[in-house]
Amino acid sequence: MSTYGIDLGTTYSCIARLDSNGNPEVIRNNEDDSNTVASVVFFENESNVIVGQAAKENVETDGERVVQFVKREIGKRDTRTYEFDGKTYTPVEISALILTRLKNLVEAQGGTIEDVVITVPAYFGLEERSATRQAGELAGLHVLSLINEPTAAALSYCARQFQEDRTILVYDLGGGTFDVTVVKMSMTQNSAGRDVQKITVLATGGDDRLGGKDWDDRLYSHILHACCDENGITPDEVEPETRQDIRSKVEEAKRKLSKKQVAKVRIDVNGSRTEVTIKREDFEQMTSDIVAKTMNFVDATLEKVPDAAIDTVLLVGGSTYMPMIIDAVEAKFPGKVQQHDPDQAVAKGAAIYAGMLVEEVGTPSDNETGDEVHHAEQITSKFTVEDQTPRSFGPGVVDMNGAKHKYVLENFIKIGEKMPAVFTKTYYPLEDNQELVRLRAFENMSADDTLIPCVDEDGNPQATDPAHNVKLLGELIVNLPPNTTRDTPIKVTFKVDASGVHVEAVNTKTGETFETFLRTESDIDVEGSAVHQLRISSD
Ligand code: ADP
Ligand code: MG
Repeated sequence: MSTYGIDLGTTYSCIARLDSNGNPEVIRNNEDDSNTVASVVFFENESNVIVGQAAKENVETDGERVVQFVKREIGKRDTRTYEFDGKTYTPVEISALILTRLKNLVEAQGGTIEDVVITVPAYFGLEERSATRQAGELAGLHVLSLINEPTAAALSYCARQFQEDRTILVYDLGGGTFDVTVVKMSMTQNSAGRDVQKITVLATGGDDRLGGKDWDDRLYSHILHACCDENGITPDEVEPETRQDIRSKVEEAKRKLSKKQVAKVRIDVNGSRTEVTIKREDFEQMTSDIVAKTMNFVDATLEKVPDAAIDTVLLVGGSTYMPMIIDAVEAKFPGKVQQHDPDQAVAKGAAIYAGMLVEEVGTPSDNETGDEVHHAEQITSKFTVEDQTPRSFGPGVVDMNGAKHKYVLENFIKIGEKMPAVFTKTYYPLEDNQELVRLRAFENMSADDTLIPCVDEDGNPQATDPAHNVKLLGELIVNLPPNTTRDTPIKVTFKVDASGVHVEAVNTKTGETFETFLRTESDIDVEGSAVHQLRISSD
């Protein structure tokens, strides 16, 4: 199969496909002897750009030529860019370099790669999603779809243990983010009347600034102080080289402590060799508050679904290799904790989803053997996914109720609703003989039915409640034929799925359809005119 699933992670990325038996398998990164690729890019010089562990090793010595945690920047407005050797790179371009490295893993092993599914955090808004998709395309991949990370993890669990009606809590602790998701699995029938397992997301929570790095930082500071005590110096007297030496050994020491009770680190402290011994119990003590913090997020997420009885807790993310995490979760959910390849589960779920999509459209590639198709079908046709919308979405329209004339955002699809989501409403031109409509689409985080849009009718910015985080996604120009009357119904539809927002407007008198798939900020080309709007029927 040339269909792959990609977990484009904040700190580590992973790529998987379905093997000839239809089971997901990870493509190994032989160069780093690992199942994952560090999401780190080192711009060594004009002609040499390195991605992965070798790039990571330059963080301390050549930090200004290294880019890490780019996922935190992707799709953000007014984001930073990176400059190396006279060339400017956007977060999308940096992400594309990481994806190209994953693509190269496949090709180096003789595989071909075309269609992919890329995973994104459940809380990503439209622009982050679009930017991720763009990065894939820039890397020469055909992005079939995006899927939320916890959903992908649940999918890979589901494929492994096919059980009916279970409520699962996905505890995903990565390098820089922590996500909690409650999903329900139940049996349903698909459109062909076949029994399929349905995965429904019930609640999400977490913190996008909490992860393995917090454990690294604690360990760093512990080792630094131990070095000072041993050498009778204060932290202020520690040379930058020594700090770098500690920094570069912290993650490895942390990983060792997941396997052993004791880890030893040798540090060159201002020229004198110092050995620091760290006991697992001490490491656990110095980080117990961060563990507790993750459990508070678990509680907060469970409060959103008071009726849910958790049957299984799925540990996902490299940081769940730490025994203290397994113990804490086990203490709260005795006998319910499951952990399988926590750093690969998301990529494997994406591979299963990719298989599902290819099967749906029925376009297995030519180089597939019939056998592969047969087996792949067995596993992938068992599922259907129902996610939650990460934001609210709706058009800007004029409310003419009574004497007032107010430009409002009508929230069609609300945050946390079932996804894919579709909503349709009929509006009317503002006046007779209107030539066109500038149908604007907005994203926000409010659950209100209507709110103030971030631009006025003329397209000029206007103040909104910061908590609502209202963003203009773009506009669809709907041309109206001559002599269009103000009672002409214009049917507006918004469709939202994990890949983006599709906006459609149909002139029901002529049947003419206008549509757009809103992708990125660059789509926004707003020229305002108060008369070029639609109105809510005031009957
Ligand atoms: P991402 O955050 O990109 O989704 P992962 O889920 O792979 O990435 O998690 C990466 C984090 O997991 C890093 O902080 C890494 O140090 C940590 N990690 C990986 N393996 C271990 C281990 N054996 N013990 C402790 N931490 C680990
Ligand atoms: Mg992850």
